[in-house]
Amino acid sequence: MSNAENFTDLGLDPRLSTILDHQGISRPTEIQALAVPTAIVGHDLIASSKTGSGKTLAYLLPTMQRLMRQKALSKKDPRVLILTPTRELAKQVYAQLRSLVSGTQLRAVLVLGGENFNDQAKALGKDPHVVVATPGRLVNHLDERSLFLDGLELLILDEADRMLDLGFAEQLNRINQIASHRLRQTLMFSATLEHAEVNSMAKTLLKSPKRIAIGAANAEHADIEKRFYFADHLDHKQALLERILDTETYQQVIIFTATRADTERLSQLLSGKGLKTAALSGEMSQTDRNKIMDSFSRGQQQVLITTDVASRGLDLLQVSLVVNFDMPKQAEEYVHRIGRTGRAGAKGVAISLVGPKDWDAFKRVESFLQQSVNFGELDGLKAKFKGVKDAPVAKVPKSEVSAAVARPKRVIKAPQDRKNRRTANLQIVSDDGMAPLKKKKAD
Ligand code: ADP
Ligand code: MG
Repeated sequence: MSNAENFTDLGLDPRLSTILDHQGISRPTEIQALAVPTAIVGHDLIASSKTGSGKTLAYLLPTMQRLMRQKALSKKDPRVLILTPTRELAKQVYAQLRSLVSGTQLRAVLVLGGENFNDQAKALGKDPHVVVATPGRLVNHLDERSLFLDGLELLILDEADRMLDLGFAEQLNRINQIASHRLRQTLMFSATLEHAEVNSMAKTLLKSPKRIAIGAANAEHADIEKRFYFADHLDHKQALLERILDTETYQQVIIFTATRADTERLSQLLSGKGLKTAALSGEMSQTDRNKIMDSFSRGQQQVLITTDVASRGLDLLQVSLVVNFDMPKQAEEYVHRIGRTGRAGAKGVAISLVGPKDWDAFKRVESFLQQSVNFGELDGLKAKFKGVKDAPVAKVPKSEVSAAVARPKRVIKAPQDRKNRRTANLQIVSDDGMAPLKKKKAD
C-alpha cells in the first residue's frame, strides 16, 4: 500500500493536481501512486492492476507532466502516442486527456479507423503534442507520410495484451522501429499482462522496464459479485436472461454475446419487451458505433448488447450489471467483460450463462480464476445440463433437438469456421453454437 495522500506527493506539477481537484479527484489510487512517480522519472514500465482502478490517469498524468515540464525533442512531431485496441476506448482516453489539456496550449488529436482519413491528416499537419490512436489507422498515416514519429518521446500501450490478441504486433513493431531513438520512453498497461506474447513484445519495445503489478490478473475483484447459471439451450438462455433483467436491480446493463447476429437477435427480443436497448458490434459503421456509445453513455438506453469489442477499458459508471450470455473464448476477456462494472469503488454484479457449448470456455475461465465456481438456480428455470465430467467436449443430448425445433423460424447462418469446429458433425449450428437446429428451408 502506498501512503501518498495527494497527487503533489507523487512529484506531480501542482497545476495538474489543481485540475484533478476540480474533477473531484484528490487521492491517487494504488496504481497511480506507484506508476506516476516511476514514469515521471523516465523509466519504462509494465503495469497491471484490476479493472476500474484508474490506470488511465496513471499514464495520462506522466504524459501531462512531461509536456508541461520537459523541452520537446522535436517541434513538429507528436511527443506522445497513446494506442488502444478499440476505437471506443481510444475515444474515451482522448476525452479524459482533453479534460486535462483544456485551458493549456497543448493540442491532442484522435486518429481512429473508420473515420475520415483526410481530416485526420489535416489535424496531424497542425503538429499536435499528443496523438491517441488505434494501431491500424496510425500505421496508415505513417505509410501516407501524414505523420512522422522521429520526435516521439513517450509511447503508451493501453490494453497492450489485447492489441497483440487482435493481431497488431506488426503495427506495434513498425511504430517501435520508426520511433526508435534512445530517449524514447514506453509504458504498457492492462489488467492482464501475464502472457508470453506480451513478455516477448515487451522485450522488443521496452528498455529495462520496471514492473508494477497490483494484485494478480486472476485475483478476486471485491466489488464484483460473480454468479453462474447453467443453461440447456438458446431458448433457455433467453428465458434466464429475461428473468435476470426482470428481477435484478440495475441502472444500466451490458450483455455480452459471441456474434453480431446474437446481439441483433437479443436486441430485438428485449426491445420487444419494452426495454430501451442498443446493439453494438465491430462490424457496424463507425457512425453507428459512435451514435450507440454516445446515447448509451448518456443513459438513453438501459441495455447494451455487444461483443468483445466493448470488453476492454470502457468506463461507464452507470453499469451495475454485466451478463455473459455466452462465455468468452479467452479467459482474460472474462476478467475484462465483468470489469465493465464495479469500477472506481462502485459495486457490481456479473452473471454468466453456461450451456453445453460454453463448457470448454467456462473451464478455461475457472482455471484462470483458480477457484471452483458454484452455480445458482432460478425458480422454474433449472437446467438439466450440469456440466461435463472429465470430457473435454460437450455432447449435445438428443432431447435438446425438440426444443430447438420448436423455435420460431428464422434465418440462421452457419458460422464461417464451421469445419474447424468440434461440432462439425452437426448439420447446422445455431449462432451461439449451442443447440443443433433443423436445416433451414429457403424462405
Ligand atoms: P482502468 O483503466 O484501471 O480500468 P480507469 O482509468 O478507466 O480504470 O478509471 C476508472 C474510473 O475511476 C474512472 O471513472 C476514473 O475517472 C476514476 N478515477 C481514476 N482515478 C481516480 C482517483 N484517483 N480518485 C477517484 N476516481 C478515480
Ligand atoms: Mg483502462
